[in-house]
Amino acid sequence: MSQVCLILFGAPGSGKGTQAKLLSKSLRLPHISTGDMLRESVERGDDLGHEVQAILASGSLVPDEIVNALVAERIERRDSARGFILDGYPRTVNQARIVRQLLDERGVTVLVVHLKVDYNVILDRLAARRQCPVCGAVYGVTTNGPVMVCGLDGARVVVRDDDRPDVVRKRLQNYDRQTAPVLEFFQQAGYCRLDVDGDAPGGPEKISEGIQALVRRHMQLASQRA
Ligand code: ADP
Repeated sequence: MSQVCLILFGAPGSGKGTQAKLLSKSLRLPHISTGDMLRESVERGDDLGHEVQAILASGSLVPDEIVNALVAERIERRDSARGFILDGYPRTVNQARIVRQLLDERGVTVLVVHLKVDYNVILDRLAARRQCPVCGAVYGVTTNGPVMVCGLDGARVVVRDDDRPDVVRKRLQNYDRQTAPVLEFFQQAGYCRLDVDGDAPGGPEKISEGIQALVRRHMQLASQRA
């Protein structure tokens, strides 16, 4: 069976990370988040972390070469043999070109999951988002109550630097300008795309169930064709 690549696509705060984690668990595919990888580097304080720390805090995108190299290396690892889930990548048309080449060479079956959420909902969500600096768990103060410590490891949860309202607005502008055009690229590449209501009733679990059903069906069809 050919390798499968799910691309979680959508604006910042549309729920890509949450859906990617749920899908990773149920489909047993590794969750590859460029945002998480970059934040981990910043936490570790390694060379890459020093290079990208200010860019992340400002809400701008890090240079394409950096994320392209991170992803190219990551999908070579053994746990990606059956496939993988990309979250937050590709985020520019240039990144999309590079990853397309990489996936074409490997004969990977690609499925784009596009999470659509109104920007007013996103602004509310990100204002309420808190994250554990140790394990990356995400909490919402409106849904989880006034969370102070992480339920998994007891660390004090924080507001991500780039979740401050002025930075959020910049990230949404960047999304419109640099990332949304990637959808057109996917279309031209002939990738199958699912448009999903990322604010559907029932919350993340319900949304995930819907996506899983569609993804399994798609993977089944792809394996029959192979
Ligand atoms: P969100 O999708 O909520 O913006 P992410 O965790 O995916 O959050 O990304 C956080 C930040 O990491 C981005 O604002 C950007 O600075 C950097 N980043 C993540 N992925 C990429 C990418 N593919 N290309 C460039 N920068 C990226």
